[in-house]
Amino acid sequence: MKVINHTEIPDATIRLMIKQVAKGMGRKIKGVTFCYTRRHPFLGHAHYDTKMLSVAFAKNSSNYYPVSINQQRHIQFNFPVYDVNNEEENCLAVLAHEAYHFRAHLNGWRNTEKRAETYAFKHLQKWRSSNHKGEDKKQ
Ligand SMILES: [Zn+2]
Repeated sequence: MKVINHTEIPDATIRLMIKQVAKGMGRKIKGVTFCYTRRHPFLGHAHYDTKMLSVAFAKNSSNYYPVSINQQRHIQFNFPVYDVNNEEENCLAVLAHEAYHFRAHLNGWRNTEKRAETYAFKHLQKWRSSNHKGEDKKQ
């Protein structure tokens, strides 16, 4: 799998995220691109035709994080509402969200934003409770 990392998150940490989130998809994902965005704190894309995932999120900044993922639709449609505390958590959550869309596409599951967000939140909790927590504590 090709991994393009344009962020300051260490490649080793990025690989751990992919390992956690992409379990079960194996080599079906051809590659993942990670980069920063100023446009929106919480952005991602999954391209099924090319089997590529793109993950974009806000760069770490003490006056930016934590950010609450509570857009209108989260409240209106009862999506999970949660905080991400740093760019690493945001990266993981966006990656999991896009990976859900990809898995759902492959497996013929219902492919909704609510399900993708529920999957992202589940993986964020798993990430926090894992040994990887605190691995990237650079300030
Ligand atoms: Zn989505």
